[in-house]
Amino acid sequence: MGIRPANKMEENKRTEIGDLGEFGLIERIQSKITNTNRSTVKGIGDDAAVIDCGDRYQLVSTDMLIEGIHFDLSYMPLQHLGYKAVSVNVSDIAAMNGTPEQITVSLGLSNRISVEAIDALYEGIKFACKDYNVDLVGGDTTASQTGLIISITAIGTVDKDKVVYRNTAKDKDIICVTGDIGGAYIGLQALEREKQVFQANPDMQPELGDFEYAIQRQLKPVARMDIIHELKELKIVPTSMIDVSDGLVSDLFHICKSSDVGAAIFEDKLPLSNEAMASAVELNIDPITAAMNGGEDYELLFTIAQSDHDKIKNHSDISEIGYVNAKDKAKNLITKNEQAIALQAQGWKHF
Ligand code: ADP
Ligand code: MG
Repeated sequence: MGIRPANKMEENKRTEIGDLGEFGLIERIQSKITNTNRSTVKGIGDDAAVIDCGDRYQLVSTDMLIEGIHFDLSYMPLQHLGYKAVSVNVSDIAAMNGTPEQITVSLGLSNRISVEAIDALYEGIKFACKDYNVDLVGGDTTASQTGLIISITAIGTVDKDKVVYRNTAKDKDIICVTGDIGGAYIGLQALEREKQVFQANPDMQPELGDFEYAIQRQLKPVARMDIIHELKELKIVPTSMIDVSDGLVSDLFHICKSSDVGAAIFEDKLPLSNEAMASAVELNIDPITAAMNGGEDYELLFTIAQSDHDKIKNHSDISEIGYVNAKDKAKNLITKNEQAIALQAQGWKHF
């Protein structure tokens, strides 16, 4: 005999995933889980799980990429896809201030994928393993009826007193972001536009030259392990950190929600690359919107104590873009003419 629903109402109730959204769904799952092992230091709710394994903490993070949702094989070369799949996982280990050491790779394969295509995918995975100094130690292989699926788990370590969570940002901390943002989204729009042009007229040669930088940001993101090493050299432990996968505002909101704080971001401090901005204009995309809500840049967004400002003020690849506001917890964009506008998280909506 099966388990009976408590009453008829519950039996008939059906909530669409889209009504909750990805983050609402994760919160719902989280609220039903209780961990019991003493070694589980941090479960659901950060970029990686944190496990006490003796002298140091172990970090574990999983990300899945699905054909048609996260990538389109008509413009995503398989080597790049392999590299990107590793990068997005390494980025989550970086976001805990950790160092990745191993990955496992699980594949769902449709019959459209040849053995040579899998070789190409693994070439990219191997390149990434070399760049990030990680070992590929296992995985799983299965058939798929819905296109290619790649799920990677990254395992890393961090000193116990150096782990950085999302929920520890403090009032007046400085909000920093690495590199430049918005490029990956602009690159995706360029690729989508050229795909449509090509589908309408297959004799047309794609014109992607003008979008080279943005396309590279979309196809070959690099996890910022270099910054993790530099922060260590500068003796900076961020007060909170996340990687920019869903979009700057959306990921900032995760820090704000977990830390129970607000934030002010200055429009004129957002780091946009000149190349990506020019591409945005050509594609009729507002560069500021791309920088705030475009995803997949895999840069690091973190907060530091004001006392650490001098250590990074001249760093060419870290921008101070705002500050934490724990008083009224408002989340504002301060525009170029000093108006405060409430920030809106858009991020990726797969559901
Ligand atoms: P990120 O963008 O950094 O990869 P996610 O938004 O994917 O983070 O996940 C946020 C948190 O929710 C993480 O701790 C992740 O492990 C957890 N999580 C996501 N999906 C599930 C799931 N289906 N079951 C349990 N935990 C999940
Ligand atoms: Mg993350």
